[in-house]
Amino acid sequence: MKKIPLHWQILIGITAGISVGLLCTQFAGGREFAIDWIKPFGTIFINLLKLIAIPLIIVSLIKGVSDLKDVTQLSALGVRTFGLYILTTVIAVSLGLALVNFIQPGNFIMENTRQDMLQSFAGEMQYKIDEATEIKETRGPLQVLVDIVPDNIFHAATANSNMLQIIFFSLLVGIAMIMLPFGQIESFKNVLDAGNAIVLKIVDIMMIFAPYGVFALLAALVAEAPSIDVFKALGMYAFTVVLGLVILVYGVYSLFIYFFGKMNPFHFFKAILPAQLLGFSTSSSAATLPVTMECAEENLGIRKEVLSFVLPIGATINMDGTCLYQGVAAIFIAQVMGYDLTMAQQLSVIATATLASIGAAAVPGAGILMLVIVLESIGVSPAGIALIFAVDRPLDMLRTAVNVSGDAMVATIINRVGMKKSNPPQETA
Ligand code: ASP
Repeated sequence: MKKIPLHWQILIGITAGISVGLLCTQFAGGREFAIDWIKPFGTIFINLLKLIAIPLIIVSLIKGVSDLKDVTQLSALGVRTFGLYILTTVIAVSLGLALVNFIQPGNFIMENTRQDMLQSFAGEMQYKIDEATEIKETRGPLQVLVDIVPDNIFHAATANSNMLQIIFFSLLVGIAMIMLPFGQIESFKNVLDAGNAIVLKIVDIMMIFAPYGVFALLAALVAEAPSIDVFKALGMYAFTVVLGLVILVYGVYSLFIYFFGKMNPFHFFKAILPAQLLGFSTSSSAATLPVTMECAEENLGIRKEVLSFVLPIGATINMDGTCLYQGVAAIFIAQVMGYDLTMAQQLSVIATATLASIGAAAVPGAGILMLVIVLESIGVSPAGIALIFAVDRPLDMLRTAVNVSGDAMVATIINRVGMKKSNPPQETA
């Protein structure tokens, strides 16, 4: 496998996984076989990716920030990055809303299908709603901000793997380093450099297993997938989400890349294909982060200090695919359940979906959990989530691929316009 480019290796893994998964659905005991003997290898692969994600974020963010010239440069980088993240997220959800209002997928679903879905997924759905309500109940309006600041960094990194808290702490360390005289931090910088090299080597080692891991993930997913009828009933809804995602990535992102990143979109998409495929296979932006960073550096030539700031933050808060999906899903559920939404409610979907996508964790199924908040903001019963539950996983795979593409797109633009090229190592501060 060594000579074959990574994206081909992953594609072969995906194709073989889907084929074996389909095969497993064809004979008795096949499903159990896939769950007992194939799925664990997929889980091991995801664990490995998650294992390296936190050390990677800590080391590269501290290193990236401390390599900047001064705090002014950091704030310029920060403002542009956050500005672009919010802008693209709002564009994504607006596109989703335009499509769902135009196509009206809610009118394609039969009354009996509606009842069936509401009944058959009621249990799972109640579980999701309870989970989301629990999250919401502990949250006052400013809780989002409180949550970013950890009171114990070891707890943040171990017990709950809270990415935003880890990012906050790493930024703080990086900022302190910029402000200190070089002599005082020199040895720590050397440790960081060595740590960075080690983490990146570990990512390389893990990538040897990528095709096999992806194979196992896909085989198990396909073997466990619900029947084709469910997909047929929800075809228009799924089509609307997929159409939106395709327009977003290949239309909107291409324009951004061409006009603001001054790069040929074909080159961009070829460069990030491994990250897209891994996002698709794992449904987790966080697990994909090591590969997104590798693609950004090696294939797109993005400077280290840019990508190590933009990408970890992007994986955590910038989820254009999720936001678009939440917009479509919320309106679809409202359509099926017979709500007539006003313009103000549609605008409220834009606002809450933007916040919900920022708040969604970079893990599988986070988007549907946060959908409860979007639905509640427009007074639609969260019970409607049961309608879309069955087809969520494939859509999660696609929106995660879009989420990581959005991060790479912003990194490409910031690399060109976000900060000045020259970054001489500082001697004093
Ligand atoms: N799985 C997505 C991600 O990690 C989040 C979501 O569920 O939409 O980017």
